[in-house]
Amino acid sequence: MRPYESTSAALGDVLRLSQSMTYKCAIGGIPFGGGKAVVVADPARDKTKELLYAFGNAVESLGGRYITSFDMGTTMDDVRTMGEVTAHVGGIDAASGNASASTAQGLLACIKASIRYLLGAGKSLHGIRVAIQGVGNVGGRLARLLAAQGARLVLADVDQKLVSHMAEKLGADLVGTDEILSADVDVLSPCAMGGILNETSITRIRAPIIAGGANNQLAYSSVGNELKDRGLLYAPDYLANAGGIIDLHYQLNREPRENLPAHLHGLGDILRRVYERSAETGLATNVVADEFAEEVVRRGRIDSAYAS
Ligand code: NAD
Repeated sequence: MRPYESTSAALGDVLRLSQSMTYKCAIGGIPFGGGKAVVVADPARDKTKELLYAFGNAVESLGGRYITSFDMGTTMDDVRTMGEVTAHVGGIDAASGNASASTAQGLLACIKASIRYLLGAGKSLHGIRVAIQGVGNVGGRLARLLAAQGARLVLADVDQKLVSHMAEKLGADLVGTDEILSADVDVLSPCAMGGILNETSITRIRAPIIAGGANNQLAYSSVGNELKDRGLLYAPDYLANAGGIIDLHYQLNREPRENLPAHLHGLGDILRRVYERSAETGLATNVVADEFAEEVVRRGRIDSAYAS
């Protein structure tokens, strides 16, 4: 929910968002087509029960072909309100916990796969240095998982109180939000906002691996080529953060939940295939990931693109 300046801006955004959702579902191996909705409204001013009901009714009219959840400008409580008029809501199953835990687990699997790909199959996380930009739902959980496996952390967040507390608890180093990109580490993990990788910012990156949970990290697609030319290994964002949508699939009881950890772990195997294909073809990793996802969509089989 955002006060878009025009209908065409809202349409452009929803098409971009729905495309990446489609790719994320395809590469994450879940049988959802991918879809997204935007509501043109100011969440601070216009968000009323009537508006949420109107949106819920629109979702209900699609008869289950579209399932909604919360995102920018909406909360879990808003989705509960929508859920009073439609059955087709997800992400509000308190018993399953916060989907960010699965996002962090999937991201951890991708960081491990990246380290093994670059530094050797037997390499563990022990002593590996990771810089995390943003220690909220995803970045905070990732920091705890990494620290538990012996990684050394460098953290930055605009929320000084939150990040200081976490650094103290985990024995991590703190740097300013301007310095995190150029931290001298093995892995840079952007877990705050999108668009942070552009032609200028990437010249400051010293980490050989970039693997984070933030959506839309590349300011534009060709930054993927520039990263490759600079010899940096980039884990495509919608693959690295697919754990959240995979969790939703399990929350909707489409598969037994005990299969979830293996599914999240498998994201690392898919990423390795992306890296291998990128090395074989010379294509940027984000382009390879898009091709895998498009192949899945074309064939209509989730296991087809990366089965061999
Ligand atoms: P969050 O709001 O809980 O955490 C983001 C953190 O980044 C906050 O602590 C915030 O203070 C910090 N931050 C904001 N600007 C910053 C800056 N300039 N420098 C450093 N820190 C900054 O959000 P989240 O749920 O953790 O999501 C983080 C990113 O991951 C978003 O891009 C989101 O779209 C994406 N994502 C999240 C999930 C999920 O399961 N939560 C799933 C897929 C993708």
